[in-house]
Order: sequence, then C-alpha cells, then structure tokens
Amino acid sequence: MFNFERKHVWHPYSSMENPAPVYPVKSASGVRLTFEDGREVIDGMASWWCAIHGYNVPELNAAVESQLKDMAHVMFGGLTHQPAAELAKLLLSIVPNQMEKVFFADSGSVSVEVSMKMALQYWQAQGNTNKTKLLALKHGYHGDTFGAMSVCDPVSGMHHVFADALPKHHFSDVNIEAFEAQIKVYHMELAAVIVEPIVQGAGGMRFYSAELLKRIRELCDEYDVLLIVDEIATGFGRTGKLFACEHADIQPDIMCVGKALTGGYMSLAATLCSAKVCDGIHAGGNGVLMHGPTFMANPLACSVALASLGLLLDSPWQQRVQYIEQQLLQGLEPCREHATVADVRVLGAIGVIEMKEPVNVQKVQEHLIEQGVWLRPFGKLIYAMPPFVMGASDMKRLTSAMLSVTSF
Ligand SMILES: *Cc1c(COP(=O)(O)O)cnc(C)c1O
Repeated sequence: MFNFERKHVWHPYSSMENPAPVYPVKSASGVRLTFEDGREVIDGMASWWCAIHGYNVPELNAAVESQLKDMAHVMFGGLTHQPAAELAKLLLSIVPNQMEKVFFADSGSVSVEVSMKMALQYWQAQGNTNKTKLLALKHGYHGDTFGAMSVCDPVSGMHHVFADALPKHHFSDVNIEAFEAQIKVYHMELAAVIVEPIVQGAGGMRFYSAELLKRIRELCDEYDVLLIVDEIATGFGRTGKLFACEHADIQPDIMCVGKALTGGYMSLAATLCSAKVCDGIHAGGNGVLMHGPTFMANPLACSVALASLGLLLDSPWQQRVQYIEQQLLQGLEPCREHATVADVRVLGAIGVIEMKEPVNVQKVQEHLIEQGVWLRPFGKLIYAMPPFVMGASDMKRLTSAMLSVTSF
C-alpha cells in the first residue's frame, strides 16, 4: 500500500520523481506518534503548530462524536448553527477587543486571502482606487495560495517560480527605519500592511521586538493604512501570550487565526475585523464581502474548536508554556558552544537552532527518530514547537536530541 502511495501521492513541497522518505503513522496519543513499524516518537512539531493539547484528547474526541450525531456539515449560505455562533462569541471574547466580526475560512491561507479582500474592498468602498497594494515584511510567510504567496518573502518564498503570475507588493526589512521609509514612500497606494506579529514562522523562524510591532501600528495610523496581523502560527498561547499582538499591546484592523484553533483536529481558520473595517466595506461598492467557501464554518470543525479553546482557557497554559520555554532555554543553551551553530533562540514554546550550513534533512530526521524524536528541520533550522502538555522527561529527550544534531 505504501509503495502505491509513494508512486501516486504528493507530499508538501515534494518531488514525485525522487520522493524523500515518509514515515507511515498508525496512531497518535498524548505527545507520541506510533509508526506502522512499531517505533514511537515524541512530536516536537505539534503537527506544524496545531496539536497544542497533544493527540487523542478525550475532550476533543467527545466534541467531534457529539457533533457528529447532530450533523457533520451543512452549507453556511443561508443557514447557520450553534457551533458557529458559540465559537464566534468565544473567539471575539479573547482576541484584541477591537475585533468585532468573524469570517470562518477553511484554512490559514484562505483566511489570509479573505483578509486581503477585506482591505481592498474597504478602500474600494471609500472610492479610493489607488490603495491596491500591500506592504509586507521580508522573511514573512502567509500561506501558499496566490494572494498569500504574493506577500511571502520575495527571496525564500515562491516568487521566482510564479513570478509572472503574482501581483507585485512592497517589502520592508525587519526594522523600524526601513519600515518607516517604505510606508512613507508607498502609503498612497497601500491598502494594508500585513505582518506576522513578533514571530516570523515558516519564512525563517525569526523573532522581532515588540517595539517594532508597536511602531508598525503607529505608522499605519499615521499614514492611513490598515494593519493585518497574521496570528495563524502565533495565536492561542504559543509565544507566551494568548495572541502575539499582546506583546506590543496593539489592536489590529484585521486578524487571521488558524492552525491551533481546532487543537489540530480539523482544518479551520478565521479572519476577524474591526467595526471600522466592516462598516467601511458596507459603505459603498456592492456592500458585500466577496468570499464564501463550500465548507465555511463546518460544524464538526467549529465544535472541536470550541472544545479546544475551552480546554486551553481552563488549563494552566501560561505556566505550561513558561515551563517549556525554560526547558528549551536550558536544554538548547549548550548548542551555542558548537562551531556549527550560528544562533539559538527561544520564545514561549518555540525553540530554534540556526546552523551555519543547511542540514541534510533526511539524515538528521533518521538520527532524531533513532532517539525517539520527531522534528522536521528546514534549511539551516532545527526547531521545535511542542504540544503545551509535554512533560519534563519528554522535554529533556527533545532538547538532548536537538543538541546532538549540532555535533552530528
Ligand atoms: C501556516 C501559516 C499560514 C497558512 O495556513 P494554512 O492552513 O497552511 O493554509 C499562513 N500564515 C502563517 C503565519 C502560517 O504559519
């Protein structure tokens, strides 16, 4: 069966011609994945930021099972349901308080597309036809669909592959002077600035200061440009705050959440916006927000998201994230000594070792699996963002394995 899979099924960013090895997983429970061959690994990736409570979580299983008895799905055009209504209410009670309206999307990338549409429609409705561009940060990542790709890092993103098909936007280096210079020059044509707050994820696992984020907010106000904050990776506690915006105490105009929203059970994301943005869209043009996915606000996904947020908010998540932060700091600090290591950085439940040279992903992965650890390095980066429930001995094993790679 897996031979067939290998010949016919694409994996993320992969070649079918010369596929890298993939490891069949039979089941997952707690912080562990069990492979088909019986081996067990602790998951340092939380399935790409999502599985904050780990796997096979009784409360989340129960939410799916209970919702399944009522309905798995109904269209959201002209219909609504309790899970969507309750989730919207809960979400709006925990995000920065300027957020007032919710659009449920089916993936992070789609929520970014919707955020860009909101910004463009806002200016259109004011009769401003000049504001059609975005300003993004270099090293950013906002997803794989065309609109989202167009604001990903222009070098490490996929611009070179799709250059002729992508809309052209503006990019700033990640510092106050550069940002100020860019917004000053281009504000007349800028509908919005889009940033990942504090942590730039898939574009290079870089952190930047709360001061810069604060300044970005001020400059957006000063130059009359909307601010879209992409919290898809950072949202729901990962950086030590419930949302990374809180590090700088700022209010976005538009905000995207996804990934950990359902605790890793199903694909669901949301784009939220302020009353100003919403009223602006309705003030002119055709007055309706032009998006509507088939699986919008899927009831199963909304139910499990409700259960996941409930579980998170009822848990001592701040202590847990702080504890993981300490373990990562302690465990990874010795890497600095190694001649192969360029940098070590930790924020909340995120630990990053940046090597001087790109790593051989396949070899490193095999080496890590032998030590019972699942990670997916990319480029020069060996990084972890474990489930918040990972305990002391598993954290120790995770950081020891990461450490061993640097002298490997
Ligand atoms: C993962 C991610 C996305 C895209 O989300 P998908 O669900 O993969 O489409 C967008 N922005 C950020 C910051 C992300 O980390």
